[in-house]
Amino acid sequence: MSSSAVTRSTPRSRSTVLVALLALTLALAGVLAYEAHDAARSHQATAERALRDYAVFAAWEFLTGARQSVNNAVSAALSPATSVKASSPYELLPPPAVLDGSAAAPLRCDSADAGTVADRALGYFRLDLRNGSLTFAGPEPPPAVRAWLADTVTEHARTVYRPDWSYALVFGGAGGRARAVAYGIKYAEHNAPVAAYGFLTCPSAFGAPVFREVMRRNALLPVSLTGGAPNDSLLVLAVKEHGREIFRSAPATPASLSPFVGEVTMEKFGGLTARVTLRPDAVSRLAIGAPPRSRLLVIFGLLVLTAGLVVVALLQLRREHELARLRADFVSGVSHELRTPLAQILLFAETLSLDRVRSDRERRTAADIIVQEGRRLMHLVDNVLHFARAERGLNRVAPQPTALAPLLEEVAATFRPLAAAAGAGLRTALDERAAAPVDRDALRQVLLNLLDNAVKYGPAGQTVTLGVTSGAGGGGPAGRPVVRLWVEDEGPGIDPADRERIWLPFVRVARDRHAAAGGSGIGLSVVRELVALHGGRAWAEGGAGGRGARFVVELPASEVVSSAERAPRRPDPVAAGQS
Ligand code: ADP
Repeated sequence: MSSSAVTRSTPRSRSTVLVALLALTLALAGVLAYEAHDAARSHQATAERALRDYAVFAAWEFLTGARQSVNNAVSAALSPATSVKASSPYELLPPPAVLDGSAAAPLRCDSADAGTVADRALGYFRLDLRNGSLTFAGPEPPPAVRAWLADTVTEHARTVYRPDWSYALVFGGAGGRARAVAYGIKYAEHNAPVAAYGFLTCPSAFGAPVFREVMRRNALLPVSLTGGAPNDSLLVLAVKEHGREIFRSAPATPASLSPFVGEVTMEKFGGLTARVTLRPDAVSRLAIGAPPRSRLLVIFGLLVLTAGLVVVALLQLRREHELARLRADFVSGVSHELRTPLAQILLFAETLSLDRVRSDRERRTAADIIVQEGRRLMHLVDNVLHFARAERGLNRVAPQPTALAPLLEEVAATFRPLAAAAGAGLRTALDERAAAPVDRDALRQVLLNLLDNAVKYGPAGQTVTLGVTSGAGGGGPAGRPVVRLWVEDEGPGIDPADRERIWLPFVRVARDRHAAAGGSGIGLSVVRELVALHGGRAWAEGGAGGRGARFVVELPASEVVSSAERAPRRPDPVAAGQS
């Protein structure tokens, strides 16, 4: 298969897909949040509707209960006249006296409501709906009351009363007093109304005592939910008669009332209106754990969290991207750095092997160049190995108290020819007293990396300085004595904004990223890692006199250096090489 036939997804297209997926996740979270909010809202609306329905149900139950409690008395009182249909519309009607003696006693006015004894008695009447004649069984009420009674019952019987009712109640006022009429209609065939039989009493006969009794006796709300708690603890009831309040079970205080109200008017029960307001206690019982509180805050919080996670993921993605780019730069940088010495080695090795040298001097030069470039390669590979081990935390050092001036002199001597090859001079500024516990190979690697950079990034003709000052010059963070080693060049220096960044792996400042001087971007990270293993720190600053760069390595100083340790060691042919 030709290489052009192979399709590979590039990192860019992969991250586009990832970004799209994250955006989709966020959008999905938004939709889910909206759906959850919507569901919670409709749940709440349903719960509130159910609570209002419960209030209506309670009002209806109450009126039905109240009506039933007077049902027996009223129906029994009226049935002798109304239960049997007239055989013809012209039938002779039984007198209202047929009702007298029936058991309607509980419906008499109580003494507070009715003035006279006559008023307190049940005034039975018959209203002939065929001709409007009104007949009484006992003492006749005053003419005004009679007229009111005739008009009211005629009107009510015509417009409100239904044939399936056994009686109806009508409330009103006549003769300077509140009145109540209970009446039933005697029908002929085809539900033709013939006459109304009833009695006159006062509203209190159907009032507070009856209502209170119903409140006490009947469960107005479903017992399965309220656990049979008394009505008074669950609701507040008000009864109105044509807008006028005639009964209230408890005073209305904002704390004891919920917004859940139900109102029912029952025409056959005198058009009374019952208004039930649920108490908060009933709300919590009926809604099985109270109507759900708005979850908006939680949902919004979760959405913000999701958005936060997506942002973190995007940042991570960007970092990955950056890391991938840095790694790619690293590979090309390392390849470039490897290629140059390899090309030199190959060139001079071929020259030697083909015997193209013209003199012994040329032969030695070629061999020297091969050795030098081999060392450069070795140094580079060492750096890569250090770096790889650092990534896995495998780097170890074995520090020994060491006099630093001789070690630095040795490194300078090794590096000087290379500096010279790049047209740079190297001078040393050494404090003979400086001593520190160091791993000599590791410190050599550190210094060569710094010197290599100084020469690589500085101009031809510059002078690079390698120096060390003993603890007398500075104190460590905890006041412990330290030594400072430094490499200073006369190059372009490092922008203060980049001085911390450059110690990170693969980071190369923009100026040098594509410069001819190849670089892997790991030299300084290896320096920092090795210095940290010595318990020291490393940083970059501006060079003296405002130009160039100065790289400083600070190490804990050792107290005493024995004469044996002062003696310079034999240079290590491998580690002494540099790039
Ligand atoms: P590199 O292989 O690129 O030299 P380093 O980790 O050694 O990697 O250095 C990181 C970057 O820091 C370099 O690419 C360069 O941009 C900058 N740098 C390091 N030393 C110097 C210096 N002496 N002068 C100017 N810039 C430097």
